[in-house]
Amino acid sequence: MSESKINNVPEISRAKSAELYAKAKTYFPGGVNSPVRAFKSVYGTPLFIKKGDGAYIWDADDNQFIDFCGSWGPLILGHNHPAVRNKVTEVMQNGMSFGAPTALENELAELILTHNKFIEKIRFVSSGTEAVMSAIRLARGYTKRDKILKFEGCYHGHVDALLVKAGSGLVTFGETSSAGVPKSFADETIVIALNDKEALAKAFEDFKDQIAAVIIEPIPANNGLLLQHQEFLQYLREACTANGTLLIFDEVISGFRVGFNGAAGLYQIQPDIITYGKIIGGGLPVGAYGASAHIMSNVSPEGPVYQAGTLSGNPVAMAAGIAQLTELLKPDFYTDLHNKTKVFINDIVEFVSQRNYPLHISHVDSIFWFAFDAGKIIRKADEIDPHSMEKFKTMHLELINRGVYFGPSGYEVGFVSGAHTTAILDKAKQVIFESLDVVFGAARPATEDAAALAKADFRE
Ligand SMILES: *Cc1c(COP(=O)(O)O)cnc(C)c1O
Repeated sequence: MSESKINNVPEISRAKSAELYAKAKTYFPGGVNSPVRAFKSVYGTPLFIKKGDGAYIWDADDNQFIDFCGSWGPLILGHNHPAVRNKVTEVMQNGMSFGAPTALENELAELILTHNKFIEKIRFVSSGTEAVMSAIRLARGYTKRDKILKFEGCYHGHVDALLVKAGSGLVTFGETSSAGVPKSFADETIVIALNDKEALAKAFEDFKDQIAAVIIEPIPANNGLLLQHQEFLQYLREACTANGTLLIFDEVISGFRVGFNGAAGLYQIQPDIITYGKIIGGGLPVGAYGASAHIMSNVSPEGPVYQAGTLSGNPVAMAAGIAQLTELLKPDFYTDLHNKTKVFINDIVEFVSQRNYPLHISHVDSIFWFAFDAGKIIRKADEIDPHSMEKFKTMHLELINRGVYFGPSGYEVGFVSGAHTTAILDKAKQVIFESLDVVFGAARPATEDAAALAKADFRE
Protein backbone atom coordinates (compact mmCIF):
# COMPACT_ATOMS: atom_id res chain seq x y z
CA MET A 1 0.00 0.00 0.00
CA SER A 2 2.90 2.31 -0.66
CA GLU A 3 0.96 4.18 -3.35
CA SER A 4 -0.62 6.51 -0.87
CA LYS A 5 2.80 7.63 0.33
CA ILE A 6 3.66 9.25 -2.99
CA ASN A 7 1.78 12.39 -2.12
CA ASN A 8 2.62 12.20 1.55
CA VAL A 9 -0.94 11.54 2.57
CA PRO A 10 -0.91 9.39 5.70
CA GLU A 11 -2.96 6.25 5.73
CA ILE A 12 -6.11 6.61 7.78
CA SER A 13 -6.38 4.45 10.86
CA ARG A 14 -8.69 1.48 10.48
CA ALA A 15 -7.98 -0.04 13.88
CA LYS A 16 -11.56 -0.05 15.15
CA SER A 17 -12.96 -1.18 11.80
CA ALA A 18 -10.42 -4.01 11.78
CA GLU A 19 -11.48 -5.06 15.26
CA LEU A 20 -15.16 -5.04 14.30
CA TYR A 21 -14.40 -6.91 11.10
CA ALA A 22 -12.52 -9.63 12.99
CA LYS A 23 -15.53 -10.08 15.24
CA ALA A 24 -17.96 -9.98 12.30
CA LYS A 25 -16.05 -12.79 10.62
CA THR A 26 -16.93 -15.03 13.54
CA TYR A 27 -20.63 -14.24 13.03
CA PHE A 28 -21.19 -13.86 9.28
CA PRO A 29 -19.81 -15.62 6.23
CA GLY A 30 -16.98 -13.39 5.06
CA GLY A 31 -17.79 -11.03 7.92
CA VAL A 32 -20.62 -9.28 6.06
CA ASN A 33 -24.30 -9.52 5.22
CA SER A 34 -23.85 -8.63 1.56
CA PRO A 35 -20.69 -9.57 -0.35
CA VAL A 36 -19.31 -6.35 -1.94
CA ARG A 37 -19.11 -4.77 1.49
CA ALA A 38 -16.17 -7.05 2.34
CA PHE A 39 -13.75 -4.87 0.29
CA LYS A 40 -12.48 -7.91 -1.64
CA SER A 41 -11.97 -5.79 -4.77
CA VAL A 42 -10.14 -2.93 -3.07
CA TYR A 43 -7.35 -2.43 -0.52
CA GLY A 44 -7.71 -2.66 3.21
CA THR A 45 -10.19 -3.54 5.87
CA PRO A 46 -13.85 -2.76 5.17
CA LEU A 47 -14.82 0.45 6.89
CA PHE A 48 -17.50 0.03 9.52
CA ILE A 49 -19.73 3.08 9.32
CA LYS A 50 -21.22 4.54 12.44
CA LYS A 51 -22.84 7.74 11.27
CA GLY A 52 -24.02 9.59 8.20
CA ASP A 53 -25.16 13.17 7.77
CA GLY A 54 -25.80 14.94 4.49
CA ALA A 55 -23.02 14.12 2.03
CA TYR A 56 -20.77 12.72 4.76
CA ILE A 57 -20.21 9.44 6.55
CA TRP A 58 -18.00 8.62 9.53
CA ASP A 59 -16.38 5.27 10.23
CA ALA A 60 -15.73 3.54 13.53
CA ASP A 61 -12.30 5.23 13.73
CA ASP A 62 -13.91 8.67 13.33
CA ASN A 63 -12.58 9.17 9.82
CA GLN A 64 -14.87 11.45 7.84
CA PHE A 65 -15.65 10.91 4.16
CA ILE A 66 -17.57 12.60 1.39
CA ASP A 67 -19.77 9.69 0.35
CA PHE A 68 -20.53 8.83 -3.27
CA CYS A 69 -22.00 5.39 -2.53
CA GLY A 70 -25.18 6.61 -0.84
CA SER A 71 -26.02 3.16 0.51
CA TRP A 72 -25.75 1.96 -3.13
CA GLY A 73 -28.35 4.39 -4.43
CA PRO A 74 -31.27 4.88 -2.06
CA LEU A 75 -30.00 8.06 -0.40
CA ILE A 76 -30.74 10.63 -3.10
CA LEU A 77 -31.28 13.26 -0.40
CA GLY A 78 -28.07 12.35 1.40
CA HIS A 79 -27.73 10.76 4.81
CA ASN A 80 -30.11 11.29 7.67
CA HIS A 81 -32.27 13.85 5.87
CA PRO A 82 -34.40 15.66 8.46
CA ALA A 83 -37.66 15.27 6.51
CA VAL A 84 -37.20 11.49 6.33
CA ARG A 85 -35.96 11.15 9.89
CA ASN A 86 -38.83 13.23 11.30
CA LYS A 87 -41.54 11.38 9.37
CA VAL A 88 -40.15 7.98 10.36
CA THR A 89 -39.84 9.02 14.01
CA GLU A 90 -43.39 10.33 14.02
CA VAL A 91 -44.90 7.21 12.46
CA MET A 92 -42.91 4.89 14.73
CA GLN A 93 -44.67 6.30 17.78
CA ASN A 94 -47.76 4.33 16.72
CA GLY A 95 -46.12 0.94 16.41
CA MET A 96 -44.00 -0.64 13.73
CA SER A 97 -45.97 -3.32 11.94
CA PHE A 98 -49.55 -4.52 11.82
CA GLY A 99 -49.80 -6.94 8.91
CA ALA A 100 -52.99 -5.08 8.02
CA PRO A 101 -53.56 -2.25 5.55
CA THR A 102 -52.62 1.28 6.63
CA ALA A 103 -53.35 4.71 5.15
CA LEU A 104 -49.61 5.18 4.65
CA GLU A 105 -49.60 2.61 1.85
CA ASN A 106 -52.32 4.58 0.07
CA GLU A 107 -50.35 7.75 0.58
CA LEU A 108 -47.14 6.44 -0.96
CA ALA A 109 -49.03 4.77 -3.82
CA GLU A 110 -50.92 7.97 -4.55
CA LEU A 111 -47.73 10.00 -4.52
CA ILE A 112 -46.24 7.68 -7.11
CA LEU A 113 -49.24 6.93 -9.31
CA THR A 114 -50.47 10.49 -9.68
CA HIS A 115 -47.07 11.57 -10.98
CA ASN A 116 -46.04 8.52 -12.96
CA LYS A 117 -47.99 7.87 -16.13
CA PHE A 118 -46.11 4.64 -16.87
CA ILE A 119 -47.90 2.51 -14.27
CA GLU A 120 -51.51 2.40 -13.08
CA LYS A 121 -51.27 0.02 -10.15
CA ILE A 122 -48.47 -0.93 -7.81
CA ARG A 123 -47.62 -3.61 -5.23
CA PHE A 124 -45.16 -2.91 -2.43
CA VAL A 125 -42.62 -5.55 -1.40
CA SER A 126 -39.50 -5.34 0.77
CA SER A 127 -36.52 -5.36 -1.60
CA GLY A 128 -35.49 -4.90 -5.21
CA THR A 129 -34.86 -8.62 -5.54
CA GLU A 130 -38.36 -9.37 -4.39
CA ALA A 131 -39.80 -6.83 -6.83
CA VAL A 132 -37.96 -8.44 -9.75
CA MET A 133 -38.84 -11.97 -8.69
CA SER A 134 -42.51 -11.00 -8.50
CA ALA A 135 -42.45 -9.14 -11.82
CA ILE A 136 -41.04 -12.22 -13.55
CA ARG A 137 -43.74 -14.41 -12.02
CA LEU A 138 -46.40 -11.93 -13.09
CA ALA A 139 -45.07 -11.88 -16.66
CA ARG A 140 -45.04 -15.66 -16.79
CA GLY A 141 -48.53 -15.90 -15.32
CA TYR A 142 -49.86 -13.27 -17.69
CA THR A 143 -48.31 -14.63 -20.90
CA LYS A 144 -48.48 -18.32 -19.89
CA ARG A 145 -44.93 -18.67 -21.18
CA ASP A 146 -41.84 -19.79 -19.24
CA LYS A 147 -38.71 -18.33 -20.81
CA ILE A 148 -37.22 -14.99 -19.92
CA LEU A 149 -34.51 -13.02 -21.64
CA LYS A 150 -31.90 -10.95 -19.86
CA PHE A 151 -28.83 -9.01 -20.88
CA GLU A 152 -25.25 -9.75 -19.93
CA GLY A 153 -24.11 -7.01 -17.56
CA CYS A 154 -27.52 -6.28 -16.06
CA TYR A 155 -28.06 -7.16 -12.41
CA HIS A 156 -31.53 -7.85 -11.10
CA GLY A 157 -30.92 -8.93 -7.54
CA HIS A 158 -30.21 -12.47 -6.39
CA VAL A 159 -33.22 -14.12 -8.06
CA ASP A 160 -32.31 -17.73 -9.03
CA ALA A 161 -33.37 -17.48 -12.67
CA LEU A 162 -31.39 -14.26 -13.11
CA LEU A 163 -28.12 -15.35 -11.53
CA VAL A 164 -27.00 -16.46 -14.95
CA LYS A 165 -24.37 -15.30 -17.37
CA ALA A 166 -23.98 -15.67 -21.10
CA GLY A 167 -22.28 -18.69 -22.58
CA SER A 168 -20.37 -18.25 -25.83
CA GLY A 169 -22.43 -17.41 -28.89
CA LEU A 170 -24.84 -14.73 -29.96
CA VAL A 171 -27.89 -16.14 -28.17
CA THR A 172 -27.32 -18.56 -25.33
CA PHE A 173 -29.05 -20.17 -22.42
CA GLY A 174 -27.71 -18.80 -19.20
CA GLU A 175 -24.98 -20.55 -17.31
CA THR A 176 -25.51 -20.25 -13.59
CA SER A 177 -23.32 -17.61 -12.00
CA SER A 178 -23.93 -18.85 -8.47
CA ALA A 179 -23.71 -22.28 -6.91
CA GLY A 180 -27.12 -23.50 -5.81
CA VAL A 181 -29.04 -22.37 -8.89
CA PRO A 182 -30.47 -25.45 -10.62
CA LYS A 183 -29.38 -25.80 -14.22
CA SER A 184 -33.02 -26.30 -15.15
CA PHE A 185 -33.75 -22.76 -13.90
CA ALA A 186 -30.92 -21.30 -15.94
CA ASP A 187 -32.27 -23.19 -18.94
CA GLU A 188 -35.35 -20.97 -18.84
CA THR A 189 -33.22 -17.85 -19.11
CA ILE A 190 -31.81 -16.63 -22.40
CA VAL A 191 -28.85 -14.26 -22.16
CA ILE A 192 -27.69 -11.86 -24.87
CA ALA A 193 -25.37 -8.84 -25.04
CA LEU A 194 -26.65 -5.33 -24.45
CA ASN A 195 -27.04 -2.91 -27.34
CA ASP A 196 -27.21 -5.78 -29.86
CA LYS A 197 -30.28 -5.71 -32.12
CA GLU A 198 -29.12 -8.69 -34.13
CA ALA A 199 -28.90 -10.96 -31.08
CA LEU A 200 -32.31 -9.78 -29.93
CA ALA A 201 -33.91 -10.51 -33.30
CA LYS A 202 -32.30 -13.96 -33.33
CA ALA A 203 -33.53 -14.74 -29.81
CA PHE A 204 -37.10 -13.93 -30.77
CA GLU A 205 -36.67 -16.11 -33.85
CA ASP A 206 -35.08 -19.06 -32.02
CA PHE A 207 -37.63 -18.98 -29.21
CA LYS A 208 -40.75 -17.92 -31.05
CA ASP A 209 -43.80 -17.63 -28.76
CA GLN A 210 -41.80 -18.89 -25.76
CA ILE A 211 -40.45 -15.71 -24.18
CA ALA A 212 -42.65 -14.39 -21.37
CA ALA A 213 -40.56 -11.33 -20.65
CA VAL A 214 -37.47 -9.42 -21.52
CA ILE A 215 -35.95 -7.80 -18.47
CA ILE A 216 -33.47 -4.96 -18.73
CA GLU A 217 -31.99 -2.23 -16.60
CA PRO A 218 -32.82 0.57 -19.05
CA ILE A 219 -29.86 2.36 -17.49
CA PRO A 220 -27.56 -0.57 -16.73
CA ALA A 221 -25.71 0.59 -13.62
CA ASN A 222 -24.57 -2.52 -11.78
CA ASN A 223 -21.66 -3.54 -13.98
CA GLY A 224 -20.24 -0.19 -14.82
CA LEU A 225 -22.64 2.29 -16.36
CA LEU A 226 -23.47 0.80 -19.75
CA LEU A 227 -25.59 3.53 -21.27
CA GLN A 228 -27.83 2.25 -24.05
CA HIS A 229 -28.95 4.11 -27.14
CA GLN A 230 -32.54 5.31 -26.94
CA GLU A 231 -32.97 3.72 -30.34
CA PHE A 232 -31.98 0.29 -28.99
CA LEU A 233 -34.48 0.55 -26.15
CA GLN A 234 -37.14 1.65 -28.63
CA TYR A 235 -36.31 -1.33 -30.85
CA LEU A 236 -36.57 -3.59 -27.81
CA ARG A 237 -40.00 -2.15 -27.01
CA GLU A 238 -41.23 -2.81 -30.53
CA ALA A 239 -39.77 -6.32 -30.70
CA CYS A 240 -41.46 -7.28 -27.42
CA THR A 241 -44.82 -5.99 -28.60
CA ALA A 242 -44.48 -7.81 -31.93
CA ASN A 243 -43.74 -11.07 -30.12
CA GLY A 244 -46.35 -10.92 -27.36
CA THR A 245 -43.53 -10.62 -24.81
CA LEU A 246 -43.74 -8.30 -21.82
CA LEU A 247 -40.99 -5.72 -21.41
CA ILE A 248 -39.83 -5.31 -17.81
CA PHE A 249 -37.82 -2.22 -16.96
CA ASP A 250 -35.84 -2.95 -13.82
CA GLU A 251 -35.69 0.55 -12.42
CA VAL A 252 -34.46 -0.37 -8.95
CA ILE A 253 -31.56 2.07 -9.47
CA SER A 254 -32.90 4.42 -12.14
CA GLY A 255 -36.39 4.81 -10.69
CA PHE A 256 -36.77 8.24 -9.02
CA ARG A 257 -33.05 8.82 -9.76
CA VAL A 258 -33.03 10.21 -13.30
CA GLY A 259 -36.22 12.12 -12.62
CA PHE A 260 -39.37 11.05 -10.80
CA ASN A 261 -40.43 8.85 -13.73
CA GLY A 262 -37.07 7.15 -13.99
CA ALA A 263 -35.71 5.80 -17.24
CA ALA A 264 -39.18 5.24 -18.71
CA GLY A 265 -39.67 8.99 -18.44
CA LEU A 266 -36.16 9.84 -19.58
CA TYR A 267 -36.38 7.73 -22.74
CA GLN A 268 -40.15 8.11 -23.13
CA ILE A 269 -40.65 4.37 -23.49
CA GLN A 270 -43.63 2.56 -22.00
CA PRO A 271 -42.57 -0.78 -20.51
CA ASP A 272 -45.18 -3.37 -19.48
CA ILE A 273 -43.93 -3.82 -15.93
CA ILE A 274 -41.58 -1.62 -13.89
CA THR A 275 -39.71 -2.67 -10.76
CA TYR A 276 -38.55 -0.22 -8.11
CA GLY A 277 -36.42 -0.38 -4.98
CA LYS A 278 -33.65 1.69 -3.40
CA ILE A 279 -34.86 5.34 -3.56
CA ILE A 280 -38.53 4.37 -3.15
CA GLY A 281 -37.88 3.38 0.47
CA GLY A 282 -35.92 6.44 1.59
CA GLY A 283 -33.23 4.17 3.08
CA LEU A 284 -35.61 1.60 4.53
CA PRO A 285 -36.32 -1.78 2.88
CA VAL A 286 -38.97 -1.19 0.21
CA GLY A 287 -39.37 -2.52 -3.30
CA ALA A 288 -42.32 -2.34 -5.66
CA TYR A 289 -43.57 -3.46 -9.01
CA GLY A 290 -46.17 -1.73 -11.10
CA ALA A 291 -47.94 -2.06 -14.43
CA SER A 292 -51.25 -1.29 -16.14
CA ALA A 293 -54.36 -2.04 -14.11
CA HIS A 294 -55.05 -4.84 -16.57
CA ILE A 295 -51.73 -6.62 -16.05
CA MET A 296 -51.76 -6.00 -12.30
CA SER A 297 -55.23 -7.57 -12.06
CA ASN A 298 -53.43 -10.91 -12.42
CA VAL A 299 -51.80 -10.49 -9.01
CA SER A 300 -53.30 -12.28 -6.00
CA PRO A 301 -55.92 -11.83 -4.51
CA GLU A 302 -57.39 -10.29 -7.68
CA GLY A 303 -55.78 -12.85 -9.97
CA PRO A 304 -53.96 -16.19 -10.02
CA VAL A 305 -50.35 -14.98 -9.60
CA TYR A 306 -49.48 -15.48 -5.94
CA GLN A 307 -47.32 -12.96 -4.15
CA ALA A 308 -47.31 -11.89 -0.50
CA GLY A 309 -45.19 -10.46 2.30
CA THR A 310 -45.40 -10.28 6.09
CA LEU A 311 -43.75 -6.87 6.17
CA SER A 312 -44.95 -5.63 2.76
CA GLY A 313 -46.13 -2.02 3.00
CA ASN A 314 -44.55 -1.72 6.44
CA PRO A 315 -45.70 1.61 7.90
CA VAL A 316 -42.26 2.83 8.98
CA ALA A 317 -40.78 2.01 5.58
CA MET A 318 -43.75 3.65 3.83
CA ALA A 319 -43.20 6.76 5.94
CA ALA A 320 -39.58 7.00 4.81
CA GLY A 321 -40.66 6.58 1.19
CA ILE A 322 -43.38 9.22 1.49
CA ALA A 323 -41.01 11.73 3.05
CA GLN A 324 -38.26 11.14 0.50
CA LEU A 325 -40.48 11.19 -2.60
CA THR A 326 -42.22 14.34 -1.33
CA GLU A 327 -38.83 16.09 -1.31
CA LEU A 328 -38.09 14.85 -4.82
CA LEU A 329 -41.31 16.39 -6.12
CA LYS A 330 -40.30 19.86 -4.98
CA PRO A 331 -39.65 22.23 -7.88
CA ASP A 332 -36.15 22.07 -9.36
CA PHE A 333 -34.92 19.21 -7.16
CA TYR A 334 -33.79 17.14 -10.14
CA THR A 335 -32.64 20.10 -12.23
CA ASP A 336 -30.37 21.30 -9.42
CA LEU A 337 -29.02 17.82 -8.74
CA HIS A 338 -28.35 17.13 -12.40
CA ASN A 339 -26.78 20.53 -13.03
CA LYS A 340 -24.31 20.32 -10.18
CA THR A 341 -23.37 16.76 -11.12
CA LYS A 342 -22.77 17.88 -14.68
CA VAL A 343 -20.33 20.59 -13.58
CA PHE A 344 -18.59 18.14 -11.23
CA ILE A 345 -18.16 15.49 -13.92
CA ASN A 346 -17.25 17.95 -16.67
CA ASP A 347 -14.46 19.39 -14.54
CA ILE A 348 -13.05 15.91 -13.93
CA VAL A 349 -13.33 15.08 -17.63
CA GLU A 350 -11.49 18.30 -18.42
CA PHE A 351 -8.71 17.44 -15.95
CA VAL A 352 -8.41 13.92 -17.33
CA SER A 353 -8.24 15.08 -20.93
CA GLN A 354 -5.65 17.78 -20.16
CA ARG A 355 -3.43 15.13 -18.65
CA ASN A 356 -4.34 12.63 -21.32
CA TYR A 357 -5.17 9.93 -18.79
CA PRO A 358 -6.84 6.78 -20.22
CA LEU A 359 -10.06 7.22 -18.28
CA HIS A 360 -13.56 7.69 -19.58
CA ILE A 361 -16.29 8.92 -17.28
CA SER A 362 -19.83 7.90 -18.17
CA HIS A 363 -22.65 9.68 -16.50
CA VAL A 364 -26.36 10.21 -16.70
CA ASP A 365 -27.87 12.79 -14.40
CA SER A 366 -26.59 12.02 -10.88
CA ILE A 367 -25.10 8.58 -11.69
CA PHE A 368 -21.46 8.31 -12.78
CA TRP A 369 -18.84 5.69 -13.47
CA PHE A 370 -15.07 5.82 -13.97
CA ALA A 371 -14.06 3.49 -16.82
CA PHE A 372 -10.29 3.10 -16.67
CA ASP A 373 -8.37 2.25 -19.83
CA ALA A 374 -11.50 2.81 -21.90
CA GLY A 375 -10.98 4.68 -25.13
CA LYS A 376 -14.67 4.94 -25.86
CA ILE A 377 -18.11 4.82 -24.35
CA ILE A 378 -18.68 1.30 -23.08
CA ARG A 379 -22.13 -0.11 -23.79
CA LYS A 380 -21.61 -3.85 -23.33
CA ALA A 381 -20.30 -5.86 -20.39
CA ASP A 382 -17.54 -7.59 -22.39
CA GLU A 383 -16.05 -4.24 -23.40
CA ILE A 384 -14.85 -3.69 -19.82
CA ASP A 385 -11.20 -4.67 -19.36
CA PRO A 386 -10.92 -6.57 -16.05
CA HIS A 387 -7.25 -5.46 -15.73
CA SER A 388 -8.41 -1.85 -15.55
CA MET A 389 -9.82 -2.65 -12.11
CA GLU A 390 -6.28 -2.47 -10.69
CA LYS A 391 -6.34 1.25 -11.38
CA PHE A 392 -9.68 1.60 -9.65
CA LYS A 393 -8.23 -0.20 -6.65
CA THR A 394 -5.38 2.26 -6.36
CA MET A 395 -7.72 5.21 -6.80
CA HIS A 396 -10.07 3.84 -4.15
CA LEU A 397 -7.29 3.68 -1.57
CA GLU A 398 -6.03 7.15 -2.44
CA LEU A 399 -9.55 8.54 -2.16
CA ILE A 400 -10.17 6.89 1.18
CA ASN A 401 -6.92 8.23 2.62
CA ARG A 402 -8.01 11.69 1.48
CA GLY A 403 -11.56 11.56 2.81
CA VAL A 404 -13.64 10.49 -0.19
CA TYR A 405 -15.64 7.24 -0.21
CA PHE A 406 -16.59 5.38 -3.40
CA GLY A 407 -18.36 2.00 -3.34
CA PRO A 408 -15.65 -0.67 -2.95
CA SER A 409 -15.63 -2.05 -6.50
CA GLY A 410 -14.69 -0.63 -9.87
CA TYR A 411 -17.84 -2.12 -11.36
CA GLU A 412 -20.06 0.00 -9.14
CA VAL A 413 -21.36 3.41 -10.10
CA GLY A 414 -21.22 6.52 -7.93
CA PHE A 415 -24.13 8.71 -6.91
CA VAL A 416 -24.38 12.40 -6.20
CA SER A 417 -27.11 13.38 -3.74
CA GLY A 418 -29.05 16.53 -3.04
CA ALA A 419 -26.80 17.00 0.02
CA HIS A 420 -23.63 17.28 -2.08
CA THR A 421 -23.29 21.04 -2.30
CA THR A 422 -21.16 22.63 -5.01
CA ALA A 423 -18.57 23.42 -2.34
CA ILE A 424 -18.43 19.78 -1.24
CA LEU A 425 -18.20 18.61 -4.84
CA ASP A 426 -15.34 21.06 -5.43
CA LYS A 427 -13.43 19.55 -2.52
CA ALA A 428 -14.12 16.02 -3.70
CA LYS A 429 -12.88 17.01 -7.14
CA GLN A 430 -9.50 18.14 -5.79
CA VAL A 431 -9.17 14.83 -3.97
CA ILE A 432 -10.05 12.96 -7.14
CA PHE A 433 -7.48 14.92 -9.15
CA GLU A 434 -4.72 14.09 -6.67
CA SER A 435 -5.74 10.47 -6.54
CA LEU A 436 -5.78 10.16 -10.33
CA ASP A 437 -2.29 11.65 -10.47
CA VAL A 438 -1.16 8.89 -8.16
CA VAL A 439 -2.98 6.22 -10.19
CA PHE A 440 -1.33 7.32 -13.39
CA GLY A 441 2.05 7.87 -11.77
CA ALA A 442 2.16 11.59 -12.40
CA ALA A 443 2.10 12.47 -8.76
CA ARG A 444 3.42 15.83 -7.76
CA PRO A 445 3.83 17.06 -4.22
CA ALA A 446 0.43 18.14 -2.95
CA THR A 447 0.06 21.90 -3.09
CA GLU A 448 -2.33 21.74 -0.21
CA ASP A 449 -3.47 18.98 2.01
CA ALA A 450 -6.47 17.77 0.08
CA ALA A 451 -7.56 15.51 2.90
CA ALA A 452 -7.76 18.41 5.32
CA LEU A 453 -9.49 20.45 2.65
CA ALA A 454 -12.12 17.79 2.12
CA LYS A 455 -12.83 17.67 5.82
CA ALA A 456 -12.92 21.41 6.37
CA ASP A 457 -16.16 23.14 7.21
CA PHE A 458 -18.62 20.29 7.01
CA ARG A 459 -22.02 22.05 7.04
CA GLU A 460 -21.49 25.09 4.88
C1 LIG B 1 -30.07 -3.19 -6.32
C2 LIG B 1 -30.76 -3.77 -7.49
C3 LIG B 1 -31.59 -4.90 -7.39
C4 LIG B 1 -31.72 -5.67 -6.11
O1 LIG B 1 -32.30 -4.91 -5.10
P1 LIG B 1 -32.09 -5.40 -3.56
O2 LIG B 1 -32.89 -4.42 -2.78
O3 LIG B 1 -30.63 -5.34 -3.33
O4 LIG B 1 -32.63 -6.77 -3.48
C5 LIG B 1 -32.28 -5.30 -8.50
N1 LIG B 1 -32.16 -4.67 -9.67
C6 LIG B 1 -31.38 -3.58 -9.81
C7 LIG B 1 -31.32 -2.89 -11.13
C8 LIG B 1 -30.64 -3.11 -8.73
O5 LIG B 1 -29.84 -2.07 -8.89
